[in-house]
Amino acid sequence: MTDVDATFRRLREEVCRLHAELTRYELVVWTAGNVSARVPDRDLLVIKPSGVAYDQLTPDNMVVCDLFGTVVDGDHAPSSDTDAQAYVYRHMPHVGGVVHTHSTYATAWAARGEPIPCVLTMMADEFGGDVPVGPFALIGDDSIGRGIVQTLSQSRSPAVLMRNHGVFSIGRTARAAVKAAVMCEDVARTVHIARQLGQPLPIAEQHIDSLYDRYQNVYGQR
Ligand SMILES: [Zn+2]
Repeated sequence: MTDVDATFRRLREEVCRLHAELTRYELVVWTAGNVSARVPDRDLLVIKPSGVAYDQLTPDNMVVCDLFGTVVDGDHAPSSDTDAQAYVYRHMPHVGGVVHTHSTYATAWAARGEPIPCVLTMMADEFGGDVPVGPFALIGDDSIGRGIVQTLSQSRSPAVLMRNHGVFSIGRTARAAVKAAVMCEDVARTVHIARQLGQPLPIAEQHIDSLYDRYQNVYGQR
């Protein structure tokens, strides 16, 4: 196996395996939700096949596409979100992974077009502020991708609530993008519950900044 073959094999396995996290954290129902990864140093991505059940996913049925969503290698049609995700990879070179879900609580905020306010220290850590809302966009052209890129370019958040639709998250790796999707749903739920009995307390901007800086630059294993 060449190095290039090994890279594709590793990414097919990783993208396939990460879909199990979407079901484990109950972020998806039926086949609606997907993970993709950029192929390093190549204008290619690996993504879930369209309409295939999560328990039927294998490394071999993942689909390799170019960054315009055209299939390069694979027996299945790629996810219907491939064009949007390809747009993100084309315009955000630091992004190595993209995730899309309609997870319940986050999507309820999206349905109201309301950003999730930064009222938890874990939100400051992971999102560096509110989880922003992106524009209403129909599938079929670049408008979803454009809305994701425009919104995330103006925010430290790795997740955006696309209005009336759901969550798109990004990361340096596909795993990091999955983590952002999991965290987004978790904070969407907690802040929703907090709202039921009162008004969640804001966190001062300078505290958000210092929490974000510490978590992003100091926390964890070096
Ligand atoms: Zn969707």
